[in-house]
Amino acid sequence: MLDQIRQLEGKFHFETYYSLSCHNCPDVIQALNLMAVLNPNITHTAIDGAIVQSEVQQRNIMAVPAVFLNGKEFGQGRMTLSDIVTKLDVNAEKNTVQKLNQQLPYEVLIVGSGPAGASAAIYAARNGIRTGIIGARFGGQVLDTIDIENYISVSKTEGPKLATALRGHVNDYDIDIIDSQMVAKLIPADAADKLHKSATVSGATLRSRIIIIATGAKWRDMNVPGEKEYRTTGVTYCPHCDGPLFKGQLVAVIGGGNSGVEAAIDLAGVVEHVTLLEFAPEMRADAVLQQKLASLSSVDIILQAETLEVKGYGVKMTGLQYKNRQDGSIHD
Ligand SMILES: Cc1cc2nc3c(=O)[nH]c(=O)nc-3n(C[C@H](O)[C@H](O)[C@H](O)COP(=O)(O)OP(=O)(O)OC[C@H]3O[C@@H](n4cnc5c(N)ncnc54)[C@H](O)[C@@H]3O)c2cc1C
Repeated sequence: MLDQIRQLEGKFHFETYYSLSCHNCPDVIQALNLMAVLNPNITHTAIDGAIVQSEVQQRNIMAVPAVFLNGKEFGQGRMTLSDIVTKLDVNAEKNTVQKLNQQLPYEVLIVGSGPAGASAAIYAARNGIRTGIIGARFGGQVLDTIDIENYISVSKTEGPKLATALRGHVNDYDIDIIDSQMVAKLIPADAADKLHKSATVSGATLRSRIIIIATGAKWRDMNVPGEKEYRTTGVTYCPHCDGPLFKGQLVAVIGGGNSGVEAAIDLAGVVEHVTLLEFAPEMRADAVLQQKLASLSSVDIILQAETLEVKGYGVKMTGLQYKNRQDGSIHD
């Protein structure tokens, strides 16, 4: 990949807007810095969005990291070095597919590279089994969280730190890690070669005697009008990343499970006021989190609230409409 970066032709000036509490930003910034070091045609400016609020508003940035290339939007959110290079190098995907197609069959191929996949890979490799692990982003959901306090024997760690440690542990063994690839289809073995096939979205096919599926979970959309339209211009899924951009504003958090309540607690320290909406008659978050939330004066909780619509004027969102499920009344 380093050679691939050195050989990129053209002029690329990147600008990345970040926030200091964004755990997705360092990887993106470091990837672009590395590219700038390797190739004189590439330059990179990293900008702390919190200290240039007027610029952030002018460029309509409401989610970080927000990356611009030669003045135009390039991408938003977590990106790996390989994602960025693939986007710039038109031949990258073709080369990757070719390389994957040439892989010898695996005894075990694990689909999904979160903690479950990493664990399965280590167990398999420790038994001397030829193992591969393929996933969209190594670390899985762990990358989306900051504080982890329930990992026995480790009082407190952070998501990205744990994901890096997981990768290091997997790398201790002879395991092929295949990054930034989604499996689109599994094809059962036929009598001829007795090998299952895993076909990727990019067009490659990997062969293996056994497939372990460890695809985990991902956030659930609200599926209401306005959600997609205002994604990154008011609707966000990463409170740590984007919270500082909503400093002094009114914010709603949808969902009273652990993730929602943790988000509301963290945001309460940054924004002016948080309203948490929960669909059910009670929240599902752990008691310890609910107690912490209840102790905060700048948070309101509305139970039995069904979100109906994210409202806005085309450029940015301005509000939220919900139904009180008890009496059917509609509120903005
Ligand atoms: C905000 C947040 C906070 C959390 N905090 C905690 C906590 O404090 N303590 C705790 O114990 N747990 C916490 N969790 C839950 C914990 O992260 C998950 O339980 C754990 O990550 C599940 O691991 P997994 O490997 O099963 O799945 P995941 O972590 O979901 O990983 C699955 C992987 O598979 C990949 N994948 C999916 N489909 C495909 C496909 N078709 N092809 C290739 N790859 C695919 C995904 O991209 C992902 O990388 C938190 C979760 C979130 C979102």
